[in-house]
Formats: sequence, structure tokens, C-alpha cells
Amino acid sequence: MAKKQYNCLKCPAYCCSYSHIPVTKRDLKRLAKYFDITEKAAEKKFTKKGDKHSPRVLRHTDDEHFVTSCMFLDKKSRNCTIYEGRPQICRDFPTQTRCGYYEFLKFEREVQDDPDWVATTD
Ligand code: SF4
Ligand code: SF4
Repeated sequence: MAKKQYNCLKCPAYCCSYSHIPVTKRDLKRLAKYFDITEKAAEKKFTKKGDKHSPRVLRHTDDEHFVTSCMFLDKKSRNCTIYEGRPQICRDFPTQTRCGYYEFLKFEREVQDDPDWVATTD
């Protein structure tokens, strides 16, 4: 397998700030099992209305960098707090050896000459 060209440990989790993170029926089942609650309860607690392609998406909470991000993102460590229970799309992303967000971050950090630089969206 080709080597990954991105490092999630050096990224503030841009992908988790995406406003439309789909939660499928299979994801709901996994989330319910992870939290030991019913699928209905998981849907209500962790998801909100999406669109016709993804009827349910993950809820967000406030984020100092991105205004909001996934409710399961630890806002200090920038890690997923439900790693074993996370939705399929979080497991698959970015699907290639490169991550577009990380390319952008790397480029800006070089330009700014600041290895910790983080772009905000507010
Ligand atoms: S945006 Fe890319 S580099 Fe950053 S955490 Fe997500 S997958 Fe990793
Ligand atoms: S479930 Fe975890 S990996 Fe998926 S968006 Fe939320 S914090 Fe990120």
C-alpha cells in the first residue's frame, strides 16, 4: 500500500469540521452498540437532519478554530473520542494517499514559516 502523505497528528482535524458528515443506518447501529443505547436514542442524541442524500448527519459543538466541529471531536487534543464507534466515512477519509486539507495546511505552514499555524474559518 502507498505511503500516506498526510499526518493527522499534526492536523487540527479539518475533516471533523465538515458540516455534513453522513450517518448511515449501519453507523447508527455501531454508535448504539458503542454507547449501549438504542438506535433511536443514538439517532436523536448524536445526529441532526441532513439532506436527501444523507438524511442524518453528525451533530456539531462549538470549536475555537472552526466555529463548530463534530460533537465527538476532543476540542483540546483534536482527537476523535469515539474512535472505535466512529461512522464509516470517518474510517474511509481521505480515501487516497493525500489529504487535500493537509496539503493546504502544509503549504500555509511553509508560507507562514510557522509549523503550528492553523487556518480558522470564523
Ligand atoms: S483533515 Fe486530513 S490530515 Fe487532517 S485529520 Fe482529517 S484526514 Fe487527517
Ligand atoms: S466521529 Fe470522530 S472522526 Fe468522525 S467526524 Fe467526529 S470526531 Fe471526527
